[in-house]
Amino acid sequence: DAMKSEVEPRDGKSQPRTRLYIDAPLTANGGLALDGDRVHYLRNVLRLQTGAALRLFNGRDGEWRGRIARLAKGAADIAVEARLREQAAECDLWLAFAPIKRTRIDTLVEKATELGVAALRPVVTQHTAVERTNSERLRAIAISASEQSGRLSVPAVHEAVTLEKLLADWPANRHLLLCAEAGSARPIAEALMSHSSKDLAAPWAVMIGPEGGFAPGELDGLMKLPFVSAVGLGPRILRADTAALAALACWQAMLGDGRSRPPRRVSPQL
Ligand code: SAH
Repeated sequence: DAMKSEVEPRDGKSQPRTRLYIDAPLTANGGLALDGDRVHYLRNVLRLQTGAALRLFNGRDGEWRGRIARLAKGAADIAVEARLREQAAECDLWLAFAPIKRTRIDTLVEKATELGVAALRPVVTQHTAVERTNSERLRAIAISASEQSGRLSVPAVHEAVTLEKLLADWPANRHLLLCAEAGSARPIAEALMSHSSKDLAAPWAVMIGPEGGFAPGELDGLMKLPFVSAVGLGPRILRADTAALAALACWQAMLGDGRSRPPRRVSPQL
């Protein structure tokens, strides 16, 4: 599979299968020097060779076709050739979630990235069992999920903060969909449908509690805030990671980029 370096997209034109996130400017006829993990990934994981084509993105300059000009142990040079896609505006959706244990948080970060979140905001609530996150590991997961999903950006991975601190710094214009099993929560579809078209470009966030749930005082406090809508996801109690992904998928389908048809990808023949 890794030997196959090109894919056939819907328009029949081939583009390189490998996508690489690079934290450097991308410009026509530019060059990049890579080292460390990135070289290991190209050489030992993907088993690419000099001359192989790839797609590059940095979250700012769109997507570019690049080619491996030199690949040595621990060092690679990439020639940046032509732009394949322009950078486009993306949904401004945060996921605020109570940290959970390692395997679950890793999949949560991967799936939330696929679902298009702009930022991952770990938040420590009263019943949160895990108080710290490994941002470096989570960021690496977010990068590889961004690479494989075709996104042009990588979500920001924030350090964990307390719920108090998160709310103290909350931007007043950012709507917060609070997922809560509280009796007063509206069904999520009903809550999202009530948002008129003027809210479509607005910044939003989804918030999920820990496996132990929100403390009653936390829920009361949150529900009094003007930017909060408490929503329910149905009669079953979901694990925190399931609830997060269900809510993100609903939001994308009803207010996000799930409302538009997928773009036709047009890219030059290699
Ligand atoms: N221990 C809690 C359940 C917590 S589930 C209890 O037994 O009541 C973890 C989080 O997932 C919750 O805090 C909530 O944010 C979300 N969640 C789970 N099921 C949900 C549902 N049916 N509707 C809305 N949110 C839900």
